[in-house]
Amino acid sequence: QSKASGKGRVTFFEPGMEDAFRTRRALEHSLRASLTNDTFHMVYQPQVTAEGNVPAVEALLRWSHPELGEISPATFIPLAEEAGLIMAIGKLVMRRVFEETADWQHVRVAINVSAIQMRTPGYAAQVMQLAARTGIDPSRYEIELTETALLGDGPATAENFDILRRLGFSIVLDDFGTGYSSLSLLHRFRVDKIKIDRSFVCDLGKSEEVNALVSAIVRLAKSFNLGVIAEGVETEEQRQLLTRAGCTKFQGFLTGAPMPASQIAALVETGAPQRRLA
Ligand code: C2E
Ligand code: MG
Ligand code: MG
Ligand code: MG
Repeated sequence: QSKASGKGRVTFFEPGMEDAFRTRRALEHSLRASLTNDTFHMVYQPQVTAEGNVPAVEALLRWSHPELGEISPATFIPLAEEAGLIMAIGKLVMRRVFEETADWQHVRVAINVSAIQMRTPGYAAQVMQLAARTGIDPSRYEIELTETALLGDGPATAENFDILRRLGFSIVLDDFGTGYSSLSLLHRFRVDKIKIDRSFVCDLGKSEEVNALVSAIVRLAKSFNLGVIAEGVETEEQRQLLTRAGCTKFQGFLTGAPMPASQIAALVETGAPQRRLA
């Protein structure tokens, strides 16, 4: 009966629910174990200019599950948050990214940070320690936050935000436009850049409204003096429409898939011309 109620709806008597619950517990268990076995690694996705240069990359976490293979962070990050593991995982991410990219001279690195990390007192101090220990220059790093991370609550979020900024990290508002208060956040927090959400990019060309919306976001960014980049760019048509809307930085499968640090280094750090990705 519950099958008929449609995808994504879970009713109380869903027959598969117990299984799903057991799977969740099992996943949570191996996630915990993975923290000691270290079955995590990072990949880096190029952010590409209209000229085909790669001024920055986004670090993305990968989890190789012993039986299930690679599991997307979209699945396990929420699980890690609920299971109280996100602080440990976040620390591992930050340390790994700093270590792998400390020597890079010519490319900035964006790191995703979850709402729970931002609202944990002392989080920014921990980042400061990791930065000192690995010898990185914070001004080459960008912290990607979603609206929920900033909406969060109280004083700890604001304090972490201020400390990170003062250390020299840039702040990027990720998935821009998908929440309910993007505009008021721009007013309340001094961010450096916004990232147009993939859902808008995906709908570009399908309706005039979406095209107009994206143009409006780009103009908004420019009038606030913010950088702007589009994520999830998959087609040449999307890139052209983005360009027409005034957006000249792209991230997506069209311009480069996520890849290991060594490949990024070979691409942008060898002194070879950067016009490799177009
Ligand atoms: P996000 O920060 O919005 O990252 C972009 C996601 O889109 C990535 O998924 C990336 O692989 C995917 N993507 C890139 N280009 C394309 C494209 O052209 N088409 C499509 N359909 N997708 C594309 P991924 O790596 O699975 O990460 C999912 C989300 O998990 C991220 O969304 C981010 O919110 C979170 N995440 C990833 N790594 C970390 C991390 O180290 N820490 C935290 N807290 N969250 C992370
Ligand atoms: Mg991101
Ligand atoms: Mg994003
Ligand atoms: Mg996204």
